[in-house]
Amino acid sequence: MSRFKIAIVGAGPAGYFSAQALQNSETEDLSFAIDMIERLPTPWGLVRSGVAPDHPKIKTVSKVFEKIATHPNFRLFGNCELGTDFTIEDLTTRYDAVIMCTGSSLGKKLGIPGEDLAGSISAADFVPWYNGHPDYVNVHVDLNGTVAVVIGAGNVAMDCGRILALNPNELDTTDTADHALTKLHASHIRQVYITGRRGPEHAAFTAPELRDLPKLEHTDVTIDAEVIKGALARAEATGEIEKDVRNNLEAMRIIAELEPENRGRALELRFLSTPKEIKGTDRVEEIVFGINRIEDDKVVDTGETYSIKCDLVISAIGYEAIPIEGVKFVKGRIENEEGRVIGTNLYTVGWAKRGPSGVIGTNKSDASDVVKLVVEDLTQPKSTGDITELIKPSHVVVDQPYWERINAAEIAAGEPHEKPRKKAVFIEELLKMGQSL
Ligand code: NAP
Repeated sequence: MSRFKIAIVGAGPAGYFSAQALQNSETEDLSFAIDMIERLPTPWGLVRSGVAPDHPKIKTVSKVFEKIATHPNFRLFGNCELGTDFTIEDLTTRYDAVIMCTGSSLGKKLGIPGEDLAGSISAADFVPWYNGHPDYVNVHVDLNGTVAVVIGAGNVAMDCGRILALNPNELDTTDTADHALTKLHASHIRQVYITGRRGPEHAAFTAPELRDLPKLEHTDVTIDAEVIKGALARAEATGEIEKDVRNNLEAMRIIAELEPENRGRALELRFLSTPKEIKGTDRVEEIVFGINRIEDDKVVDTGETYSIKCDLVISAIGYEAIPIEGVKFVKGRIENEEGRVIGTNLYTVGWAKRGPSGVIGTNKSDASDVVKLVVEDLTQPKSTGDITELIKPSHVVVDQPYWERINAAEIAAGEPHEKPRKKAVFIEELLKMGQSL
């Protein structure tokens, strides 16, 4: 029987699915001791700090994660930070393989004038702010103005636009962080635009998310029907329309046919608009867009512009990874070949590997593919130790029972408010909640 020690860095979906793939690869002759290392006291990554609070079904995947964690050869090391508490070399020399599942959490920059004005923020800050990520509690989100513009036509832009445009009462029974919910209740934002630079047929939204928009009870959702007609005509002219595109266009056509009901809150999806400049003296006052048209499925700048007077701009145009010392990054991702970091015993899965694409389930097949390579590469167990030697005795490690106490305390705190949980948002608070009696 060969038993290999594997470290997984990052307790998000890619981390858990990697652990699951390892567990599923075990045979009579092969087993794995898995140490999952996470810098926060809370695991689940984007399932906790990324998925929108009004989409609780998506979060039920955490049950799968908790099942993976019950495996006898799985250990959680939460509140342990690579780069602070130990180095990558500390891990690669102690484990047979190290799988980096560290995601990508830096928002890409627009690179346009005015981007750094007050009132212009990245979805990479806004999303973890409303989800109670400890690092983002103090992000300044100014909701005193009435108009917000979200840049990007992907699901993150949709989440940001929806959270800003809905009636915050709709979030009262969700796990939205308290500080964000209070601010959203006091928000003056009443008009939200989600803007894409290409046509509706090119939008990165997915159809289920689009189909959810008309369900907003207190918000008029609109799209210019002519723009959708144009997109359908262009898509049909190309021959066979891809299934995803057809579903998206159909969902957008339904929205475009809705009659606005003057509900006092509005969300508009706009296309063919490239952000050129954010204007304002001390803070955001206006955003200028270049108007595009589509020719041969490509975006062409018409040279014309229009602008929207606004108070808040959120760019949701993708992410890149935060560099880690000792690991080579290229184009915002860990340099890798199919998940292998060539010449090392490092591997990578998830957004750190492939960039910020796909839904949570995408990480399952990604993990399974990379774990096949890990298994292929392992010959003899060489492990010389583990993370326990690297952590100071005084350091508080959040192991699985510790996390389960935090989890239970958050769920219990949510119950009287009919919330799935009431999130603690400060590290110290989380650590205190999980202390055993
Ligand atoms: P995304 O799906 O890649 O969308 C990024 C959007 O930003 C695209 O519309 C892109 O337009 C636009 N963009 C990029 N650079 C731009 C620029 N300089 N100026 C203007 N627009 C620009 O990324 P995402 O929304 O961050 O989502 C990341 C992944 O998470 C996606 O796979 C998404 O489906 C997933 N996700 C899923 C859910 C869910 O299932 N509910 C929720 C959130 C996120 P072009 O296409 O023209 O480049």
